[in-house]
Amino acid sequence: MEKFIVVGAGLSGATIARLLAEDGNDVTVFDKRATLGGNAYDYVDKNGITVQPYGPHIFHTDYKEVYDFLSGFTEWREYKHRVLANVRGRLLPDSQGIKRGDRRGQQRFHTGTEKA
Ligand SMILES: Cc1cc2nc3c(=O)[nH]c(=O)nc-3n(C[C@H](O)[C@H](O)[C@H](O)COP(=O)(O)OP(=O)(O)OC[C@H]3O[C@@H](n4cnc5c(N)ncnc54)[C@H](O)[C@@H]3O)c2cc1C
Repeated sequence: MEKFIVVGAGLSGATIARLLAEDGNDVTVFDKRATLGGNAYDYVDKNGITVQPYGPHIFHTDYKEVYDFLSGFTEWREYKHRVLANVRGRLLPDSQGIKRGDRRGQQRFHTGTEKA
């Protein structure tokens, strides 16, 4: 058995710490925040609403190994996610769509974060 210190309890640190611990090592995790999960941390407020204080997170992966690993710690809910931007009446799939429209020499679109 070896001793390990993992700095950061986000998805990376938590995963590494878990795998090291499963291998029988003595692992201590430090995080400067009082919460677990790094930027993916969430909690349920008194109204039953899930709050994601560091930004909304949606799980997606192409790797069954990742899905199987996480399935040991969570149940899954089916979720469909579609983002459309309404730019002057034209529905574009996402910010990449806005950029593509820009590159094709069509009307220039600005998302508010881009400069003309
Ligand atoms: C707004 C937003 C939305 C996102 N949406 C998605 C999404 O929908 N789907 C998705 O797959 N990914 C999403 N991501 C990316 C996802 O958050 C990251 O890929 C993932 O959190 C990275 O995990 P990590 O453990 O590497 O880092 P982090 O989650 O950043 O965790 C790092 C941890 O280390 C701690 N730490 C850092 N430095 C120190 C230190 N010196 N001492 C102690 N602790 C320290 C931090 O407090 C933090 O808890 C999003 C990111 C953001 C910001």
